Amino acid sequence: KLVSKKWKAKPTSVDLGDGVFIKDGEMAIITGPCSIESEEQIRKVVNHCVENGITIMRGGVFKPRTSPYAFRGMGIEGLQLWHSIAAPAGIKIVTEVMQPSQIEDMYPYVDVYQVGARNSQNFNLLDELGKVDKAVMIKRGISGTIEELLQSAEYVFAGGNEKLILCERGIRTYERASRNTLDLNAIPILKAKSHLPVIVDPSHGIGIRAYVPQMALAGVMAGADGIIYESHEVPEKAYSDGQQTLDFAQSARLAAWIREIFAKR
Ligand code: PEP
Ligand code: MN
Repeated sequence: KLVSKKWKAKPTSVDLGDGVFIKDGEMAIITGPCSIESEEQIRKVVNHCVENGITIMRGGVFKPRTSPYAFRGMGIEGLQLWHSIAAPAGIKIVTEVMQPSQIEDMYPYVDVYQVGARNSQNFNLLDELGKVDKAVMIKRGISGTIEELLQSAEYVFAGGNEKLILCERGIRTYERASRNTLDLNAIPILKAKSHLPVIVDPSHGIGIRAYVPQMALAGVMAGADGIIYESHEVPEKAYSDGQQTLDFAQSARLAAWIREIFAKR
């Protein structure tokens, strides 16, 4: 496989421009709300990132919701608004793309296309992202194996796009005490098998706000190249995933801890 270490031994460095990288040997910190909700909310999260030296922000404008009646995102206008605020502040944007027809519309405003867990094996979407010259982060499928995640990455890489990032976000198991089971095992295994950077999403991984920080730090110690977690000024009021979202004080503390632990790794 092209994404395997056997084919390419040197770790892949994903360059987002302006000195921002997601790569082996660095610790990317990516935070932001589950959903982009309003101009005011965007400004608050961008300020939070700037104040804490965080250069990559996450947020969904196309939301894959279990219920069709739940908030499904601000769409392309939300992304345009977000970009108009984030780009001048030097903040890179990670956001989910749900279908091939959105790729071109999103292109001017996105820095990393996120492939969500539910689309992890949408092979048409992966094929199309293989033709794009912007970074792609692929989340592990809800019940996806490590091998399946690598095969999904193979689709994009084989299409010609080598700016790829893998993301462990928890898998569905028999355990219902947590939203998902964050598979920390996947981190050293993916790092050993592939040259691609690996990041960890403790928010979706455990789904419980109070336990997100320790799972993030566990991810750092397991060898992750970055952590992506949800934050919001008032998590209780978030349109989606508030139960697993940190407030800004918790987020600032976590970012500092991540850096501290990474420096000692
Ligand atoms: C998200 O990042 O908000 C999201 C929907 O994640 P996942 O695809 O991992 O469920
Ligand atoms: Mn979410």
